[in-house]
Amino acid sequence: MLANLLFPEIKETPQDIINKYPKRPDWKVITRIAPSPTWFLHIWAIYSAMLDKIVAYKNNWLFFLRIEDTDQKREVEWMAKKYIELLKIFWLNFNEWPIWLNWEDIWNYWPYTQSKREYIYKTFLKDLVLKWLAYPCFLTEEEITQTREIQEASKLPTWIYKEYSPWRYASLEDVKKALDEKKEFVIRLKSSWELIKKIEINDLIKWKVSMQENFLDVVLMKTNWIPTYHFAHLIDDYLMGTTLVIRWDEWFASVPLHLELFKMMLWKAPNYAHYWPLVKIDWDSRRKISKRLDPEADIEYYFEKWFLIEAILDFLSNIINSWFEDWRKENLNKSYLEFDFKLEKINSAWALVDLEKLTFVNATLIKNMPLEELYEKLSKYLQEYENDFYNNKFLKVSKEYNLKIITELKTRLTIFKEYKKLTTFFYNDFDVNQDIIDLLINLKMKIENIDIVKKWLYLALDILSAKKDEFLNIEEIKNIFVEEIKKVEMKNWQVLWPVRVSLSWEEFSPWALELIYILWKQKSIQRIQNILNLI
Ligand code: GLU
Repeated sequence: MLANLLFPEIKETPQDIINKYPKRPDWKVITRIAPSPTWFLHIWAIYSAMLDKIVAYKNNWLFFLRIEDTDQKREVEWMAKKYIELLKIFWLNFNEWPIWLNWEDIWNYWPYTQSKREYIYKTFLKDLVLKWLAYPCFLTEEEITQTREIQEASKLPTWIYKEYSPWRYASLEDVKKALDEKKEFVIRLKSSWELIKKIEINDLIKWKVSMQENFLDVVLMKTNWIPTYHFAHLIDDYLMGTTLVIRWDEWFASVPLHLELFKMMLWKAPNYAHYWPLVKIDWDSRRKISKRLDPEADIEYYFEKWFLIEAILDFLSNIINSWFEDWRKENLNKSYLEFDFKLEKINSAWALVDLEKLTFVNATLIKNMPLEELYEKLSKYLQEYENDFYNNKFLKVSKEYNLKIITELKTRLTIFKEYKKLTTFFYNDFDVNQDIIDLLINLKMKIENIDIVKKWLYLALDILSAKKDEFLNIEEIKNIFVEEIKKVEMKNWQVLWPVRVSLSWEEFSPWALELIYILWKQKSIQRIQNILNLI
């Protein structure tokens, strides 16, 4: 018998396998993410997992991870583990996931790694062959090409189906002969559907779409006993009880095939939701973000620049439903999960990954973050990515000093990466040199010569030296300075220009009085004195 010939080692029936897995409760929505970890973790994976989590969260959820590692060209185990770690950083953790060390005994629906499910796939496939719903096909590449050429010449759909699939009708003898000759083969679906018929698909994101039925004898299992995505999706999502498959647009064209497969098995198909590809602007057109071309496809790229995890989540939420942004303004401290997402209203224009927008979201979060939290996050960032600066500068001053700097910068810092650059003058002592004179003289500010510079620096020095204790806040510094400057009948900005330059040695820096507040009186006096010694 053909099935036994092909699968002699398979003794169990599909029912035996089905019986091993308990039925999931009807009332639960079961979603999953099924990455193929042959590459880095793509920003899509985060987006996709967020969608799963959002749906699951709203509906008494269960959300699991399955590793689709049938493309075994690479060593994937460490990558899969890394995926899990990365997804966890986004709080996208699962109810069930593959456990490598002890993977047999943790969750009910194991194994969660496709490469370990060969026996399961073969059992179902044997049954399909037995029922004449699938068949081995020994066509060679050349024969397939020839078939396509014939079809093209007659303007027929190209591929393997019905009368263009000789092995569909082959006798047991022919198959035996081919097997004896050790010819390579695949297992194909024996499609019963028709070329001309249409099928209506209800996609949760794309709504109702009418598509042509599948009529192709699609490959279910490849030559080396590796299932195709289509077959693995059928078996795994059925056995694991998935009720909603959220996946990227690329699979949408395969929905008719998947529906045919589920129907053939007499199983209820899951619901489908296909999300639009994430795109970027490239010159003046939009294109899909590409794993190969775009560094921003890799989720770790965002860590290097250190966008806050919360910013990435908010940013992606905004891609899902654009009015998320308005909600966020009113709900600063809530999790994005509290927002009432509407899958059916996902923007159908391609979803744009705009890094400027992400930077803006990030800056807004920094601005609104409680000081202590910001301090913690920033310290963690510096420790990891600017270790030298962290150990030799940041940790060398008091926490109070750092907090003052952070407070001052909070409204201007857009990403953590800027911190070091924006704060050099707070952490470094400066070798005063002649260049600074060019900066001190500023015709627009009516600082026309070095005598004027000196005059105002001495005034500042007098004010600072007259103050016995440390300043309590910027207000206090401001009051004292404004009063004294008024006495000499000058404008604040005129007097404060050389003061600011002496304290920061830079053209662009915070306001002079803020600098005094952060640097403290003694350090401010010292820096002004250094300049006066030079000029
Ligand atoms: N492994 C598939 C992919 O990465 C998963 C698609 C799905 O979610 O079913 O495209």
